[in-house]
Amino acid sequence: MFAHFTQKIPIFFVPTAILIATWFLIPHIPDLSPGRQDLVMLAPYFVTAMGLFLSVHFHRGRPFMALLMLVLFYWSSQTLIATEQFEPALNPFFQAFVLLIPLNTVLFTIMRERGVFSAVGRMRLVFLVVQAFGVFWLFSQHFFDLVPYIARSYLQWPLLNNLLVPQPALMAGALSFAIVAALALRRQTPIDSGMLGALTAFFMACNWITTRNMYVAYTTAGTLILTMSVLRDSYNMAFRDDLTGMPSRRSLNESLHGLGRYYTVAMLDVDHFKQFNDTYGHDVGDQVLKMVARKMMDVGGGGKAYRYGGEEFTIIFSRCRVDEALPHLEALRETIAEYRMALRSEDRPKSQKQGKGARGSRAGRGEGAYASVTVSIGVAESGEDLNSAAEVMKAADKALYKAKSRGRNQTSR
Ligand code: GH3
Ligand code: MG
Ligand code: MG
Repeated sequence: MFAHFTQKIPIFFVPTAILIATWFLIPHIPDLSPGRQDLVMLAPYFVTAMGLFLSVHFHRGRPFMALLMLVLFYWSSQTLIATEQFEPALNPFFQAFVLLIPLNTVLFTIMRERGVFSAVGRMRLVFLVVQAFGVFWLFSQHFFDLVPYIARSYLQWPLLNNLLVPQPALMAGALSFAIVAALALRRQTPIDSGMLGALTAFFMACNWITTRNMYVAYTTAGTLILTMSVLRDSYNMAFRDDLTGMPSRRSLNESLHGLGRYYTVAMLDVDHFKQFNDTYGHDVGDQVLKMVARKMMDVGGGGKAYRYGGEEFTIIFSRCRVDEALPHLEALRETIAEYRMALRSEDRPKSQKQGKGARGSRAGRGEGAYASVTVSIGVAESGEDLNSAAEVMKAADKALYKAKSRGRNQTSR
């Protein structure tokens, strides 16, 4: 359980690094020349412009809206919030942002990606504008009726009372943080983790809104985290397979260029997968591919797994001979063959005949029905007669064909 959790943490590394770097850079802002300090004040606008440009380029509407929200907050904080007679509890703009940004961040995180200027994307932008005007209207009419609720201290904890952000917003923020964190952990995507980082940065900025360098630096950090998340997401689009989350064919091609003198290549293919799909449906087929991918990514011996395409995978063992790789591949093959994937009742084969059709898989019709698959593996290593990666892959493919013709569910060289 804990090991499982620690494997999911790295998705937060980049946002966390940016937040920590910001913390250490802030004390150095006053050392800059006045001209440079003016530039620092503009940093959130520069970074946001970059992030918006990338979001449009890669059709990423969710970070686009989050960036718009942050930059609007920044602009307001300079003109409407951080004024001489700033009183957080009584400033309607501050109250509006500190309540609405976390809740919208949750909304943007939950939303499915629908692009920026697509029909749905445009609708969402309209929603953002309507919301801004709605709140503006509400607060201009009724703000002082609302103050007793939104600026109230429900808990008398010294720690909470020392914060600038009022307690209701703090609670909304904590709840938002928990939801976004859970989603980011589960989905493992840079944009979701970027949303969490931006939310954290936003709270830092809000809480130190009376200290100019703090809120400038943290707003910049928030916009930078979102911009970086769009970049990392676009990298993933190119190099990561969408279904399994493992490195894609393109990533494999890149790795092949960097291989040393000796290495081993394994090609893996799911047995009778066409029949499996016919029996259980494409969705269960996809579940199986994900399972196979997970097991492959855990293969021992330093093997690195890629999705070659469809139900075919490749593992590269760099600086490793076939004899060293074989035990790990055999263990992998057995792990996959032993895996029982529980079926929901609607996924079970409709007729007995169909059920028998899928060789290498079995399913009962009662409780505890399951499906399972086997894989065939072909291995080859670099050597005198095989000196290009393409040749080694071809040899591994040939060995795979051998494993298939010998009856499948085996490893061949
Ligand atoms: P063999 O044991 O000889 O490999 O038989 P096979 O049926 O696995 O071989 P074949 O290559 O003819 O079939 C591959 C099938 O894999 C065809 C396609 O329906 C299925 N497939 C490929 N990609 C996906 C995918 O992403 N999801 C699902 N569910 N099925 C896929
Ligand atoms: Mg195939
Ligand atoms: Mg196959």
